[in-house]
Amino acid sequence: MSTTISKNPYTKENITSYKNHTKKEVSEIIDKANKHFYSWRESSFSHRKKLMLAAADELKKNKREYAETMVSEMGKPISQAIAEIEKCAWVCEYYAENAERHLQNEIIITDADKSYVSYEPLGVVLAVMPWNYPYWQVFRFAAPALMAGNVGVLKHASNVFGCSLNIEKIFKRAGFPEHCFTTLLVGSEMVKEILENEKVRAATLTGSEPAGSSVASIAGKNIKKTVLELGGSNALLVMKDCDMEKTLDTCVNARFQNTGQSCIAGKRLIIDESIAEEFTGKLVRKVRELKSGDPMDKETYIGTLAREDLAKDLENQVNDSIQAGAKLLLGGKRQGAYFEPTILTNVTEKMSVFNEETFGPVLSVTSFKTVEEAVKLSNHSKFGLGVSIFTKNTDEIEKLALQFEEGAVFINELVKSDPRLPFGGVKHSGYGRELSRHGIREFVNRKTIYINK
Ligand code: NAP
Repeated sequence: MSTTISKNPYTKENITSYKNHTKKEVSEIIDKANKHFYSWRESSFSHRKKLMLAAADELKKNKREYAETMVSEMGKPISQAIAEIEKCAWVCEYYAENAERHLQNEIIITDADKSYVSYEPLGVVLAVMPWNYPYWQVFRFAAPALMAGNVGVLKHASNVFGCSLNIEKIFKRAGFPEHCFTTLLVGSEMVKEILENEKVRAATLTGSEPAGSSVASIAGKNIKKTVLELGGSNALLVMKDCDMEKTLDTCVNARFQNTGQSCIAGKRLIIDESIAEEFTGKLVRKVRELKSGDPMDKETYIGTLAREDLAKDLENQVNDSIQAGAKLLLGGKRQGAYFEPTILTNVTEKMSVFNEETFGPVLSVTSFKTVEEAVKLSNHSKFGLGVSIFTKNTDEIEKLALQFEEGAVFINELVKSDPRLPFGGVKHSGYGRELSRHGIREFVNRKTIYINK
């Protein structure tokens, strides 16, 4: 019997150990989920809405309890953890209120007496999820999927099984029937077998590129739909006419919230050379003030990384880039799973902090002379999740939006997810969309109904 040990990255203590599900147990869970699907899909939107609103209430009522599990399992500072739980309640409320409208039949005038598209659920959907926003990533899949009439099975990252079980508990406490949403306590090596199970109809993965590529190829071989939300290396493009004080605050948040462990974090600051020195000087002062410490302390802004090996990877990227000529302006040191907030300047496209994803509190700074060069630098990444551009000349920059190879362009704002807007990437950041009406239509059968009387 295999087990998974959950370890607190800040205290380094073992929290608990989980008995992993066996192959037989996994197969039984999927059978039960599939059986339940046929009654769940018949339930009315108003019934599902009532339950989803109850899930939102449960999240709000016990936000501290749910947030603390996240803090101890992956080191997120408590105030940010509570904000994450509140955001989960928001996505539940959004889909409770809007799912029926997003999925209503679409009448299409043809030669038929009546013809329309009906949006119908697919069945059991597998979610393979990461640890960095251990509730949010799951709820932004689960809220639309369940409201559409699908059922979900979750294979969460192995360091956040406590959060995973909490999510199952939240749906149960809200009154969702058993088997509507189930947690599978398994390692990634079991994903292939789960995907090959004919009762699993589709899969969504949020995580790294190798994991996404593996899941997509297995699903492809088995002709199953996938949505992939993978890595990112967003640029923060700062024009010389920006509002400097506001831009500084937004850039600090964009890069350092969640201790830098976010796919949509602004990882590469690309700045007009005429303001680069003044801007980076002020930036260093602001970042130096960010409070590092115990993630359970509500004043802490920078926690530890989720695991020590992740901090070591980041250290290697920083050291490689320094060796290649980058200049260290702040930070750069690691202690266990903690990594100091770090700023590197004189960064070029050839350095790993620029051309790889940095998943931690490290900001690279590169300067440009012309807007054309800025766009080129921004696009010089295999990823394409989003870009933030800071300028007062918003009309001119809006005209350039087409030139950015990204899933999102945010002007004078950090790239963020919002239940009302589609979220997802292009290039190696993945495909498909979550959130909004686009997200809820990913895991549905768009059935054509054609009637002649
Ligand atoms: P990860 O190592 O890819 O893990 C993500 C999930 O995939 C985990 O449940 C993991 O299980 C599983 N997994 C890993 N390798 C797999 C494989 N070969 N086959 C099937 N499943 C596999 O990623 P992470 O370190 O948890 O998360 C960080 C990455 O996620 C970053 O690249 C980040 O940018 C990306 N991310 C993207 C978004 C987005 O919306 N685009 C959001 C958040 C994070 P185990 O834990 O058991 O290995």
